[in-house]
Amino acid sequence: MRTNLKHFINGEWIESTGNETSDVINPATEKSIGKISLGTKEDLDKAVAAAKAALPTFSRTTKEERIKMLRNIAKGYEKRKQELIEVMTEELGAPLKISEEVHYEMGLSHFKEAANALEDYTFEKDHGSYKVVKESIGVSGLITPWNFPTNQTSTKIAGAIAAGSPMVLKPSELTPYAAMILAEIIDEAGVPKGAFNLVNGTGSTIGDGISSHPDIDFVSFTGSGAVGEKIMQNAAKTIKKVALELGGKSPLVVLEDADVEEAAKIAVSHIAMNTGQVCTAATRIIIPASMKEKFEEAVKKVLPSFPVGDPLNKDNVTGPLVAEKQWDRVQDYIKKGMDEGAKLLIGGTGKPDGLETGYFVKPTVFTDVSNDMVIAQEEIFGPVTTIITYNDLEQALEIANDTIYGLAGYAVGKDQETLDYVAKNIRAGQIIVNDAEQDRAAPFGGFKQSGIGREWGAFGIEEYLEPKAIMGVKVPAKV
Ligand code: NAD
Repeated sequence: MRTNLKHFINGEWIESTGNETSDVINPATEKSIGKISLGTKEDLDKAVAAAKAALPTFSRTTKEERIKMLRNIAKGYEKRKQELIEVMTEELGAPLKISEEVHYEMGLSHFKEAANALEDYTFEKDHGSYKVVKESIGVSGLITPWNFPTNQTSTKIAGAIAAGSPMVLKPSELTPYAAMILAEIIDEAGVPKGAFNLVNGTGSTIGDGISSHPDIDFVSFTGSGAVGEKIMQNAAKTIKKVALELGGKSPLVVLEDADVEEAAKIAVSHIAMNTGQVCTAATRIIIPASMKEKFEEAVKKVLPSFPVGDPLNKDNVTGPLVAEKQWDRVQDYIKKGMDEGAKLLIGGTGKPDGLETGYFVKPTVFTDVSNDMVIAQEEIFGPVTTIITYNDLEQALEIANDTIYGLAGYAVGKDQETLDYVAKNIRAGQIIVNDAEQDRAAPFGGFKQSGIGREWGAFGIEEYLEPKAIMGVKVPAKV
């Protein structure tokens, strides 16, 4: 059992002041893998006080000192590779292959990219009659979801450390153990005590406490739109800056000249990877009407190359959903799609054959979908996608942008000018063409209701900084 009932506060693992606990469930077995404490407001106050006390010294550490901390964390993370992979497979249900190739690797990349970005970062700049100094925004509250247990935490922690901003992290109560390993790694990496604190608990106590805490200056939240809205409302009372990374319903625009099989493979990979529990997943596949039959055939052909099953089996690509609640939610959406007249090409309700234990879902593809259907407008967060047809490129873009979201967009095809045109005309924060590799130095974040702010690399560091204008001092700016 992985039970750890302590919080990490002021450089030490300390007992919770309350005695409420929660089980962490392995979604493939439906069994508990351990317990965590559900922290209290008093635990949070202690963590915030520690972060506040660390601010004067941590914010004055040099860029070189912080680069060293980030590189030490990256080394510590690499040393605990196997453990991190295993814990994410247990708490999230991610197949071992995905835990290693996606989750482990993404978490690591953020510490490395923040250190790289810091090497070239200038905190002071002369503008003649004034200079601008960028300094820590103050105590930062980080609230993260369950779907990427190391990626979401690492990108925020790395940005805050790079900026010299002390922080309090509340990881998702569904996947807390990877974050607790990160806390141990950070503890050994020379990060000053109080600069990093972790308090486990529920959204309604610790999450709410963070967004309304008078001594927290900035909240960085990743999660659902509904909670994002509450956080903004709470933060307004103390005029806190907020950064929100929320949901998506991203389009994949397939051009007339695309290789149909390649496009189908990319489309299916979006619902297979992490069981579709990905905020950037392309779940509206917008194809030329003339390609429909061929594309549907290609989707059927390619689907078996993404096997669903036991996360411990190294061949499997798709595991269970994280929790029973998510399973019920996804089933409801599949029923809704059938009720609103979309045609089931593959999948449907219920569990895949032979996978009765665990929150497994049949990968499901709807065709004959119109963009105003609920399944084309709402984020399902499971292995469910929709095929929508277009007659000309302008219509494809209109469909692509007919959404409240704007997190990501995708295009597949050959003509580079058309691809560039599509990329520039989808209103979203990150566009990936022809399955290009995601560069973690590039900014990440949403347009419209997908969020506010950017993470990753230099943009991610900026979130934790405030610019200060200084006039009348004769000391030249330092780099
Ligand atoms: P969620 O919003 O329910 O929870 C996210 C975090 O917020 C958890 O730690 C939770 O405990 C906490 N929380 C819950 N209620 C709170 C409250 N009242 N105040 C403060 N914190 C509270 O989301 P989830 O179910 O964990 O994650 C799924 C959602 O996250 C999806 O909508 C997905 O699109 C989104 N997401 C977005 C991104 C992105 O980068 N844009 C990345 C991953 C997930």
